[in-house]
Amino acid sequence: MGLFTSLFPNLGKKMQEESREWIYHCNECGADFSVADIGGVRYKAAGNPKRKQKCIKCGQTSWMTLSKRK
Ligand SMILES: [Zn+2]
Repeated sequence: MGLFTSLFPNLGKKMQEESREWIYHCNECGADFSVADIGGVRYKAAGNPKRKQKCIKCGQTSWMTLSKRK
């Protein structure tokens, strides 16, 4: 990602900003955290996929719905 972001600084920023809009919701503890919070990237994507994800708050791994912040 380092080389990529240095070649395309604006795109990297856009991708990071959009990744912050995509939110996982933990059904175990009710925490919300973004794709960017876990170091991920989601860009130019649509839909609300379900992903197996570890919660950054309670540490439980469960199926979480990824949805875009309104
Ligand atoms: Zn949780």
